[in-house]
Amino acid sequence: MADKNGKLDLNKLSFSDSVSFYFDRASQFTDTPQGLLDQIKVCNSIYKMHFPVKYGNQVKVIEAYRVQHSHHRMPTKGGIRYSLMVDQDEVMALASLMTYKCAIVNVPFGGAKGGIKISPRQTPPEILENVTRRYTAELVKKNFIGPGIDVPAPDYGTGEREMAWIMDTYLTLRPGEIDGYGCVTGKPVSLNGIKGRTEATGRGVVYALNEVCSYADDMKGLGLSTGLEGKRVIIQGLGNVGYHTARIIREYGAKVIAVAESDGAVYDENGIDPVDLHRYRTEKKSVKGYPKGKVIADSLSALELDCDILIPAALEKQITDKNAARIKAKIIAEAANGPVTPAAEKILLKKGVMIIPDIYINAGGVTVSYFEWLKNLSHVSFGRMQKRWEEKHQRNFIKLVEDLTGKTVSKSKIDMLIHGADEIDLVNSGLEDTMIEAYQDIREFKKRRKNVPDLRTAAFAVSINKIRDSYYAMGIFP
Ligand code: NAD
Repeated sequence: MADKNGKLDLNKLSFSDSVSFYFDRASQFTDTPQGLLDQIKVCNSIYKMHFPVKYGNQVKVIEAYRVQHSHHRMPTKGGIRYSLMVDQDEVMALASLMTYKCAIVNVPFGGAKGGIKISPRQTPPEILENVTRRYTAELVKKNFIGPGIDVPAPDYGTGEREMAWIMDTYLTLRPGEIDGYGCVTGKPVSLNGIKGRTEATGRGVVYALNEVCSYADDMKGLGLSTGLEGKRVIIQGLGNVGYHTARIIREYGAKVIAVAESDGAVYDENGIDPVDLHRYRTEKKSVKGYPKGKVIADSLSALELDCDILIPAALEKQITDKNAARIKAKIIAEAANGPVTPAAEKILLKKGVMIIPDIYINAGGVTVSYFEWLKNLSHVSFGRMQKRWEEKHQRNFIKLVEDLTGKTVSKSKIDMLIHGADEIDLVNSGLEDTMIEAYQDIREFKKRRKNVPDLRTAAFAVSINKIRDSYYAMGIFP
């Protein structure tokens, strides 16, 4: 980590070193004793496992992890990643980001993360299923999963299907557990999932950016107009997070001018339709040959195109000291975890780029996962009990207004006014409120403490303060 003069070399930091670096930098803006800072920072439990899985007539040994970063709030929570790049350092970094993220958005969990070293796109589904079920069984054996213990969710390379396998394996091994469905979130809606979870991270990114861009002073400082309308956006990664971010940000009037995928990027100054591009990529298994834009072979170079907002939504370490100086975006929204390295951050901040940190901006997924977990524990969907009652109440109110004024309200207006909230309305409303409130906390902290240099430091400090207060409330630290 240190260079030959004993100075911290930002280029040599591993992913978990980077998170520690951000933590240490922010901790000076919190009044937290060193012993407590050490406790907040350290990973509480690390489970590395190896297990055999049949590949045709061969057996392969699979390497996998589950890291519970912080037990200050239980259960712990965090996604499971399938990638050949998975290693202990990466899972530890991602687990610790989860702790800070949950604190920022007031989700009452400690952070965790899981990872399996496997290629999700080059492994046949039946083998992925065996691996997922065996991984879940290993977690059950060690008491590393359960609705009150540790609750996984989707991450890079996993989705509803994998969550359904996890849930099914868990319930098979723990039959009759009444809250068992709450052992994992991100499940299909037809298997006790919640509406809006699939797109929650992307939707949260857009709610957050809408709030970020609503402050005229901040936008003026960046040379941008207020609001998302007309903003030119580049997105890296057209997976779960990137696709839904691209789709939803267009509804706010922004223009997606480039999308960078692993095998090439597509650029069109007039705007790309992400739904159409996604359909093409799903069918052809590549963005290459997409007819409605210019295809750029060097995908990473697309991040350097002129734009207002750059949204890396693929993997960590995409913007480094090698390409940071060439980035032209005014705002970088870290939809992925750790896409900007500390060395790149230094260059970008010097250039005046506003970086919206991962521990805030991609917290929409865990927020809606929390709603799903609550739904599973209460065994009833949001809105089910009150929707009809609300509608009846509104209808009676309109009738009263009509009687008092002698005027008739049109049917279309009545339909609009009486609509009672159902699950998706409540989920999106709770998500929007969460993203707005959390940004206001971070922004206000930065404004109040004049010497806080950037939003990431403010976000870490806000988070550390909240976790510190949980420990104080337990009376563990004086
Ligand atoms: P995903 O597997 O659904 O999609 C990732 C996409 O990135 C894929 O389409 C893949 O082809 C693409 N990609 C991979 N390498 C690339 C490269 N070098 N250049 C361009 N594209 C590349 O994963 P996801 O769930 O969308 O997660 C993406 C990021 O968001 C990860 O960092 C993850 O930790 C983070 N995240 C995900 C969630 C969630 O709810 N899924 C929540 C919070 C954070």
